[in-house]
Amino acid sequence: MKTALGTVLISQEDIRHRILEIGRQISSDYAGRAVTLVAILKGSFVFLADVIRAISPEVPVELDFMAVSSYGDATTTSGTVHIEKDLGISIDGKDVIIVEDIVDTGLTLLHVYNILSARGARTLRVATLLEKPGKSKYDRPLDYVGFKIPNKFVVGFGLDYAQRFRNLPDIRVLDEV
Ligand code: 5GP
Repeated sequence: MKTALGTVLISQEDIRHRILEIGRQISSDYAGRAVTLVAILKGSFVFLADVIRAISPEVPVELDFMAVSSYGDATTTSGTVHIEKDLGISIDGKDVIIVEDIVDTGLTLLHVYNILSARGARTLRVATLLEKPGKSKYDRPLDYVGFKIPNKFVVGFGLDYAQRFRNLPDIRVLDEV
């Protein structure tokens, strides 16, 4: 498939402002307790780097990473997930926020949520930079959403196409040409 970078969908300035708001919201929601961020690699790493620094220093923050790949078609919830990189810490009894780049079908998130829930997280919330309209497989509310976007394939700010474009400072649509 031949692709071309399309227009800027969300500017770096808008992303910066929205992430600061999310950081303030998390700081207020977790005031007086600790929070464990579980970031889903690779796409979430830029969002994570900004959001973690937007959380108040008063809130003790713990961080770990998971990498997963989903198999199975996106129209059923029966797909399985393969853990490519697992957590190095226990989340038993902890207040956890899953940090995602984008929720599309919600299948990846559903699997990760179920895994972390089975491991005894005390509370589980979700922060995602982007949300597409699909989301049919994950039926809980998304707690912290940067932007709702139309059903287009986007790149930049950590999101890739064939491992490219993660370095773009804004979010752009990738067009087929
Ligand atoms: P889901 O399991 O929600 O369908 O898909 C989640 C994953 O699919 C994301 O973490 C991301 O890696 C990938 N993905 C879904 N939509 C897009 C998109 O528009 N752009 C890019 N770069 N990745 C996407």
